Amino acid sequence: MMRRLVVATRNRGKLVEIEAIMRIDGLCLSALGDWPAAPTTQETGSTFLENAVLKAMDAARFTGLPAIADDSGLCVDALDGAPGVLSARFGGPGLDDVGRYELLLNTMRDVPEPQRGARFVCAVALAMPDGKVHTAMGELRGSIAISPSGTGGFGYDPVFFLPDRGCTVAELPEEVKNAVSHRATALRAIAPYVRALVNSD
Ligand code: IMP
Repeated sequence: MMRRLVVATRNRGKLVEIEAIMRIDGLCLSALGDWPAAPTTQETGSTFLENAVLKAMDAARFTGLPAIADDSGLCVDALDGAPGVLSARFGGPGLDDVGRYELLLNTMRDVPEPQRGARFVCAVALAMPDGKVHTAMGELRGSIAISPSGTGGFGYDPVFFLPDRGCTVAELPEEVKNAVSHRATALRAIAPYVRALVNSD
């Protein structure tokens, strides 16, 4: 029997990555988009963890199925951790991914190389319909590039530079990003709980 797990996101980039990383025998992932009437969770938490739990619990409650949610973002050292939990909303509602990273580059234009450190952070929550929740975190350190490069991934990937690899995350092959990313680390840590779910009756 296949176990169904709802992926509580409407972000296409995240969904593609979660599907690629969460390959578990007996597991069938369904996107929350398959429930058009599902309410959009207000991300009112002040941490990635709180928001991931809110999204996963809402989806589990609405669908009656176990649900997994990711809350993630970019924390820039020189901006005291901003945009952080507001990464998807940086610069206001009028901007798309390119507009947001252009604004970030502009905000950072006078910041010298050694102070351009940043990290991608991902919190993952797995919520059961009975209300039980498991959580995990992942992080990827890098720095903010001077200009964008690469076409892979999504969001801030074209401006997130990995010094030890000499390229941005958007220049990594998909399978490499999905092996080293903040999302991969968090999902790997939650995977034993998903496996237990698949193996339970
Ligand atoms: P959320 O839906 O509130 O979790 O928003 C996460 C936002 O953080 C995304 O819209 C992206 O802008 C950014 N983000 C999270 N993970 C990544 C990533 O892997 N690459 C690039 N940007 C990311």
